[in-house]
Amino acid sequence: MKELKKYIGFLGLLVILCSLSSCNKKQPAQTVQRPAFSADSAYAYIQAQMDFGPRVPNSAAHAQCALWLSEQLKACGAEVSFQMGNMTDYRGHQQQVCNIIAHFSVPQYANRPHILLGAHYDTRPWCDEEPLHADRMYNVPGANDGASGVGVLLEVARQISFKIADTTLYTPVDIIFFDIEDMGTPSFYTGMERSDTWCLGSQLWATEYANKANSQQYQYGLILDMIGDPNAVFPMEYYSSYYAEGYQQLIWRAAERLGYEKLFSKQLGYPIVDDHYYINYIAGIPCVDIIHYDIHNNTGFPAWWHTRDDDMKHISKTTLQAVGEVVMSLL
Ligand SMILES: [Zn+2]
Repeated sequence: MKELKKYIGFLGLLVILCSLSSCNKKQPAQTVQRPAFSADSAYAYIQAQMDFGPRVPNSAAHAQCALWLSEQLKACGAEVSFQMGNMTDYRGHQQQVCNIIAHFSVPQYANRPHILLGAHYDTRPWCDEEPLHADRMYNVPGANDGASGVGVLLEVARQISFKIADTTLYTPVDIIFFDIEDMGTPSFYTGMERSDTWCLGSQLWATEYANKANSQQYQYGLILDMIGDPNAVFPMEYYSSYYAEGYQQLIWRAAERLGYEKLFSKQLGYPIVDDHYYINYIAGIPCVDIIHYDIHNNTGFPAWWHTRDDDMKHISKTTLQAVGEVVMSLL
């Protein structure tokens, strides 16, 4: 016992000496400036979308949610418009698209190039990754795949309203909630294969943008998709690197500064056709995707992806907080 005490005393001295010497070498501790963002509020915005039921195009829930989203954005001081148009779906049928576009700026900085923030608000009509055939015709609930990106951006909009009030919104921001991202060819479809069946809303937006002579100038765009899981990992998606490498680096560095380097992995991710792809390819605006990969599943996505299990139990306030702070740090 005595020896042990002596030993502990010696160890203690050693620890003090070591920490003193390492103190001399270390930089003084820096406090990280955290931008304001409330994960509780983002979570409530996700729950509110879920309460409409699946936001499948042509359903009452989809229309009600679209109206509700436009009201939330207006309440945060945005000018809101609906962009309507028809796009061809995987069967060759026409689908009516309704994108929701919110513009935020303060008069003195209104002429600066905008930042585009986007997420899709529709949910997939089929759970085609369900193991049982009988389950595949259910709608995806879409807590992560739809509501999570929108929920974080609604909270970003609420934070922007404070920046408008004290005129500290130095960069104009457009928040776009894209429609019909998730009606791409279902895995059980046996008809003729078509290309570009995903992201119909962003294809419509990007095409109209490219065809307009005096289009609004954008610095860059950022898409959030499936960003709420407690175990989320966001590798550096390939098309984002290809078309918008500098901005992708900027965003991942911001995440690192905030201490979120495990969530925002420096690994290069394989290419994903998401809304950012068409914004890059058709509109020519550099655009980055933050999206959850899971290499442990053969789909490449989390196990709940396109199943009935994409619900609120896979939404983590810790993850929402991290993504929200990273987005706010860009504004
Ligand atoms: Zn999806």
